[in-house]
Parts: sequence; C-alpha cells; structure tokens
Amino acid sequence: MIQLYIPLNFLGVLYREIKQSLADMERLFSLLDQNREVADSDTAKALQIQHKNGAEIRFSHVNFSYEEKRQILFDVDFSIAAGTTTAVVGHSGSGKSTLSRLLFRFYDIQSGRIVIDGQDLRDLTQASVRAAIGIVPQDTVLFNDTIEYNIAYGKPGASKEDIIAVAKAAYIHEFIETLPDGYDTMVGERGLKLSGGEKQRVAIARTLLKNPSIMIFDEATSALDSHAEQLIQAQLKDIARNRTSLVIAHRLSTIVDAEQILVMDKGRIVERGTHAHLLELQGAYARMWERQQSKKTEVIEDDDEADEV
Ligand code: ADP
Ligand code: MG
Repeated sequence: MIQLYIPLNFLGVLYREIKQSLADMERLFSLLDQNREVADSDTAKALQIQHKNGAEIRFSHVNFSYEEKRQILFDVDFSIAAGTTTAVVGHSGSGKSTLSRLLFRFYDIQSGRIVIDGQDLRDLTQASVRAAIGIVPQDTVLFNDTIEYNIAYGKPGASKEDIIAVAKAAYIHEFIETLPDGYDTMVGERGLKLSGGEKQRVAIARTLLKNPSIMIFDEATSALDSHAEQLIQAQLKDIARNRTSLVIAHRLSTIVDAEQILVMDKGRIVERGTHAHLLELQGAYARMWERQQSKKTEVIEDDDEADEV
C-alpha cells in the first residue's frame, strides 16, 4: 500500500507542476512555434490595444471544458477595466489558472466570448495576443545561460541600460551585482541555482522589459515570511502601474488593494467585489480571510490540495 502510494503521490505532484506552469507552456509553444489546440482564422487580425494604461478585458458567459465530458468553467462573466487589477482566489482546481490559459488562448472556449479592447480573441492572431500579455508564473524556468540573457529574453535586442533598469525595478539588481560574474553569471540547472524568490524576480524583470499591456501574476504558493510578502506586494504595485493585471492570489493579504476580487468555486464565480465588500458579505471569502489570519504561514491551497490530483 505504502509503496504504491509514494509513486502515485509523486506523479501527482509532478502532474500539478507541469500543468500549472504557464512558463513551461509559453516556452514550449515558442520553441515548437505552434499550438495544436488553436489555429488562427484565415481572416485573423492583429490585436489593437486602444488604451494607454493597459487594455479592457471581458469574459462574457464563458463555458469551457478541456475534455468533452467534464465542464470546467460555468457561465463565467466579468470585466476588467483598463489600468485596474483583478485578483482571482479560490481553492485548488476551482479554475483560476484556466482563466489565464484562456486569456492567452491556449484553448478555445465552447460558448461565450473573450474580448480584449472590444476584439474577440477568435478573430485575432495568437502572436499579437501573446505579445500583449506578460506572465509571471508560479515557477519560473530559467535557461542555462547568463542571467542577462534570461532577463533579455523578454525583449530580444534590449540594451544593457534597459536590462539594468528592469532588474532594479524587480529588486534583483543588487543581488546580481554580488555574483562573481555579475550579469554574465551562468544560471539554470547547469549554472548557479537561484531560489524560488530570485527566479520570480528574474521573471518580473523579464516581463517588465516586455512591457505588456496585460499582466498575469501567479503568486508563489510556498509559505513566505512577512518580508517576502511585503516584497511581493511592492512588486505587484510596480508591475500593475499603467497596465491591466490579473493576479491569481494564494495569500489574500497581497491583494487587499485590488479593484476587484473574484472568488471561484468549482468553475463558477461565487462572490465578487472589493476586499471590504467581500468581508461584509461574510461568505466564502470572509472565511478564507479568517483562516489565513489565524494560520499566518499557511496558504489557502494547502487546505485541499488532494482535490487536484
Ligand atoms: P486552479 O488554478 O484554480 O487550481 P485549474 O484552472 O488549473 O485550477 O484547473 C481547473 C480544473 O481543470 C481542475 O479540475 C483540473 O484538474 C482541470 N484541468 C486543468 N488542466 C487540464 C487539462 N489540460 N486537461 C484536463 N483537465 C484539466
Ligand atoms: Mg492554478
């Protein structure tokens, strides 16, 4: 029994890692330069961003399933105004990451519409949509190359000044300066191993360099100390400036300032509003908040991880 349990559990963890890592997906698709799930229509046009401070995103009555028999999203309906931040919270498997995958158009939806600045995703080229969206994933994959290359990957051909500027904005410049070869230090599996937080900051620098109108931020699930949490909050504010942000939040304390919070449960939005409004409702969000306040070091996803595997 025990022997069977361990490998299965290990596979579960592995499956979750692969499934949740948008970085892997983004990288994989750019390497293969194709995505078999979705094709550009013959008349596909490039996305035209209409706002200076991001883009307006609208999910209109979206129903979605990965496989025919199992519906994942049910009538999901919300808007994100240009220049604002929307956070998505909810237990493991409730459909949070699916929202970001659909916005990136890794999959087409069964019914409803997803619209960016008035343009339906299905009428747009995938390349233009992906150029407009930056992702800071939970688990950043670094290339076996220099730290400079890893940041510049966000914008090939960027100048050294630009790279240093975004490294400073992502609070990683000082750390890089302490490395033996500075920006030329080799990182990744065959080079210097960076901590989860350092890798995430590289991803933030990379994304700032890309300067996308729309930002997706998947917070790390690992328990953070309050210093790390403050850093995340500061980074969220910096990143969100002049763009539209979708933040998948595990620590509610990092998203109390969001203009809108969506609470997902089993593929539906069950509550929505500001932090203050949701506390007043005394529903699912208020219960999550209380639980996190009482167990400071825990994250909501820890409570029901078994759901997902
Ligand atoms: P969350 O990010 O809230 O933890 P996800 O959006 O990743 O949840 O997943 C929502 C549901 O969709 C889960 O039940 C998950 O098992 C399922 N799911 C995710 N990716 C796939 C996939 N590629 N194929 C089939 N089912 C999937
Ligand atoms: Mg997820």
